[in-house]
Amino acid sequence: MYDLVVRNGTVIDPSQGINEKMDVAVIGTRIDSIERNIPSSSAARVIDASGLLVFPGLVDIHTHVAAGLAGLCVEADIHCLPKGVTTAVDAGSTGHLLHRAFIDRVVSNSKTRLLAFLNIESLGMIESARTGKEWSSERWAELITISNGRYDEWFVNLEETIAAIRENSSALVGIKWAHHTLNTFRLARKAADIARTRLMAENHQMPEGMKYVRKGDILTHIFHNYYNRLAGGYDGLLEDGEIRQEFFTAYRKGVIFDIGHGRSSFSWDVAEKAMAEGLKPHTISTDIWRENVGSPVRNLPYVMSKMLCAGMSIEEIVAASTVTPARVIGMERVIGSLKPGMAADISIFRLETGRFIFEDSYGRKRKGSRMLRVKSVISNGTLLSS
Ligand SMILES: [Zn+2]
Repeated sequence: MYDLVVRNGTVIDPSQGINEKMDVAVIGTRIDSIERNIPSSSAARVIDASGLLVFPGLVDIHTHVAAGLAGLCVEADIHCLPKGVTTAVDAGSTGHLLHRAFIDRVVSNSKTRLLAFLNIESLGMIESARTGKEWSSERWAELITISNGRYDEWFVNLEETIAAIRENSSALVGIKWAHHTLNTFRLARKAADIARTRLMAENHQMPEGMKYVRKGDILTHIFHNYYNRLAGGYDGLLEDGEIRQEFFTAYRKGVIFDIGHGRSSFSWDVAEKAMAEGLKPHTISTDIWRENVGSPVRNLPYVMSKMLCAGMSIEEIVAASTVTPARVIGMERVIGSLKPGMAADISIFRLETGRFIFEDSYGRKRKGSRMLRVKSVISNGTLLSS
């Protein structure tokens, strides 16, 4: 007897190359089987997914969900899980000074499965104000951005950061470097190497920063078009309107290109140019935080719908939000797939057709015709009440 069966839906599970009508059966917290016809009579609970799409639970590898610890964060159980994101990875909201509180207070009380990249800066992103529109109302945070690298090492404690990663390797999946100096980028590389973990780096300080990025590392905000006053220029993918050669080399080498949409980090123009030249993103993530959860990010299915509009196929956007991010953070044996034995994380969507306007981070708009709307979410075998 199964605890739960999802019947009659179209299952899209790129980890198994499946895009067809299948039924998915759950026992306890695990997927038990995925077959063409599992009778309703064999299950304690049946979810009819007729006319709907059934995906593995979504994995968002760039979020800010250390709620209560850093002012920029949102609650994953409000903004991630109900939208079909069963796993959210916090991208550097906390550094080593708060990582214990993050694990003990936030992760252990969350229904959403939470993991994190630990910020190379000991303080993480605590400078963000709790209210107001500005990124920060704290003056001290300017030290790190205006002092031209003079004080930035003071914000990093390599030994403690490495120790935190070693002690909590099941929750901390890597090191995060965020938009500060090249020197902190170098230190993030060093910490990742010593702790034998991966680096998630924001796509800034390029092309110089590329020397700190290796195969398996993640470059997030890949399609931003943002003037970085610290770097004194547009320090991402493009230089004078053309893609820097270093990015083609990195892509071939196996560096992961991640969307990390954010409030100021997704440009339609950059995305379209990059994709036309073969640089399709490997992973779709939101960079969800307090100031973009209304617009232009909203939630992961909304960003996935944007990437459909950008020309990715439905299989590609599901792969980029399930099996690929799971693999990127070393969790492919647990999440991101509906194979028997995997965590019973299942997200069910309706693909609505109509006319939709999708805005990037700079106010540019594109017209799309398809939108993913969440219908039901099963997390670790439990159906979320809606
Ligand atoms: Zn972020």
